[in-house]
Amino acid sequence: MRVYNFSAGPAMMPLEVIEEAQSELPDWKGGMSVMEVSHRGADFKACAAETEQSLREVMRIPHSYKVLFLQGGAMGQFAAVPFNLASAGDPVDFMLTGQWGTKALKEAGRMGLMANVVADEKPSRYTRVPDEGSFSVNPDARYLHYTPNETIGGVEFGYVPSTGQVPLVADMSSTILSRPIDVSKFGVIYAGTQKNMGPAGMAVVIVRDDLLDRARPSTPSIWHYRTQADNDSMLNTPPTFSIYLLGKILAWVNRNGGLAGMAERNRAKADLLYGFIDASSFYSNPVEPASRSWMNVPFLMVNPDLNKKFVADAAAAGLTNLGGHRSVGGMRASIYNAMPIEGVQALIEFMKEFERVHA
Ligand code: PMP
Repeated sequence: MRVYNFSAGPAMMPLEVIEEAQSELPDWKGGMSVMEVSHRGADFKACAAETEQSLREVMRIPHSYKVLFLQGGAMGQFAAVPFNLASAGDPVDFMLTGQWGTKALKEAGRMGLMANVVADEKPSRYTRVPDEGSFSVNPDARYLHYTPNETIGGVEFGYVPSTGQVPLVADMSSTILSRPIDVSKFGVIYAGTQKNMGPAGMAVVIVRDDLLDRARPSTPSIWHYRTQADNDSMLNTPPTFSIYLLGKILAWVNRNGGLAGMAERNRAKADLLYGFIDASSFYSNPVEPASRSWMNVPFLMVNPDLNKKFVADAAAAGLTNLGGHRSVGGMRASIYNAMPIEGVQALIEFMKEFERVHA
């Protein structure tokens, strides 16, 4: 029996995608599964090219950007971005709205960059994003890095920061494909795939052409954007299964109205859940309304001693992985693209009943 899986990632995928993959698994092309074919064979090359083309269409990625399918997840990019865009001692800007951006900042420090934090929402305990226009960008910074959606705190930007000539770098791991975005505003977009893009094991990197040739000479070949772009992300063996499944996810996104359809569906789910939480005196969400994530909804109960029981009882009712991140506790419902509104409705019904019994 399938459950409603509220995991932050690896996360729920559309059942029809899993079933399609299942039906193709033993014999994808020529009596082999996609996991068994050569990445250099015509069949897989066509599959990778199709996945890239679909992503370009779904996200409306301009021709002046390369799309890379790399291993190492999003955290690999915490290091790859500094390698590719800056040399040791170079200034870079960071905006911090939670734990993932802070980790990316630390990694940039390890790569010898002089990071300047232009906005840090720590004083608010990461419950808001900076106001638009409230921070100033260093015009000499090699790039500005931010995290449009902080997965742990459930804090999301409702706007794209403007950085003038300074390339904007975004870790979109937990928001990519959740709504339309204007790719042309970004220098680099990267995302681990295990939330809205399929299974773990891959990072999608979208990089503007003029940023391909800034890498420091010591950049490892597998992280080198130019080298990977020139080799169609096949310098070494790419994550073939992840590329294949991303193609199927993108077809599903298309069948469901593209990114505009995703946005409509995600807004409706988020409105429903936050609306319920705000109307309750038993549950609460600490994030400022304008900064609330459509994808990750953390919530607390008046009595934290009930957390474990909530998570266990919910799991028994088919609503799984509702525990908050180990660093913050409480609960968190991740409601990525694949979570249907029925899953959110079922969660709310469960929350109502839990409150009735325990309030
Ligand atoms: N950035 C964000 C915003 C994330 O949510 C995560 C994972 N939850 C990461 C980075 C790290 O991703 P990965 O495990 O793919 O390295």
